[in-house]
Amino acid sequence: MKLLVVGSVAFDAIETPFGKTDKILGGAATYIGITSSILGVKSGIVSVVGGDFPQEHLNMFTNRGVNIEGIEIVKEGKTFFWSGKYHNDLNTRDTLATEVNVLENFDPKIPNSMQDAEILVLGNLHPGVQLSVLEKMNNRPKLVILDTMNFWMNTAWDILMEMIAKTDVITINDEEARQLSGEYSLVKAAKKIHAMGPKYVIIKKGEHGALLFHDSNVFAIPALPLEDVFDPTGAGDTFAGGFAAYLAKKGKFDFETMKSALIVGSAMASFTVEKFGTERIEEVNESDMFSRLRQFKELTTFDVELQ
Ligand code: AMP
Repeated sequence: MKLLVVGSVAFDAIETPFGKTDKILGGAATYIGITSSILGVKSGIVSVVGGDFPQEHLNMFTNRGVNIEGIEIVKEGKTFFWSGKYHNDLNTRDTLATEVNVLENFDPKIPNSMQDAEILVLGNLHPGVQLSVLEKMNNRPKLVILDTMNFWMNTAWDILMEMIAKTDVITINDEEARQLSGEYSLVKAAKKIHAMGPKYVIIKKGEHGALLFHDSNVFAIPALPLEDVFDPTGAGDTFAGGFAAYLAKKGKFDFETMKSALIVGSAMASFTVEKFGTERIEEVNESDMFSRLRQFKELTTFDVELQ
């Protein structure tokens, strides 16, 4: 088991300009687990669901080789539920409901089979819960990747700072990077975030791609221009899954490998947005992934003749 994922396994109800869904499968750990299985990387999820969570979703994970020993089922409880509505630009959304339910008292337990994970991905959760996971690992994983959001900056700043100080790679969106650093320039923001702890800072810019910062190095990639963007939910988590799984596959965590990982993460995220929820990413196989990576290569490779 190379990759340990701690995050939400959830029900989502999503509304976009193209339609709406009832309660469907969602959650950050769900997207990350599915994506790493496409890369053939063994992952394990630590999360909690209620007695209302269908066995078929658990089977889906198992069939993909995702270890779910760490998904606790609270029989008398209800699964975390999130509902959101996207604006016409699909870049912004309103959260309509967050029913924390069993996630409220989530006390992650790391099964022995997952203690040897090389990479730990901490999905967006209360930073105190994220920190407790690190404390429960017998050995510190070689790489700790953290996702967080503005909500925790507003409500749990001190503990979030403690968590960030112990992080190797932080992934946040541009708006959150500005809030975290108090800087408008993303270059200045990344510098300040480096100083908080993380050696690598990834700033996601939705349909405008992503930036990777490390010391004085910057790497930028676009998002694949897609004809149809249907539902951006889970794009950030799919990105994190592709990024982490690629690093797990390579077993190297240097800047050059992370540049490639950024491309894999973006390529995988470009699938997720094509249909509602996990529908599209669940259909993707290895050869779909390779063909999209080729498209990415064509999009970003060029020669310039100055004379
Ligand atoms: P993303 O679109 O990548 O930001 O992630 C969306 C996923 O995050 C959805 O599937 C939600 O179930 C999940 N999610 C939303 N809010 C939270 C929260 N406060 N804690 C944990 N997971 C959440």
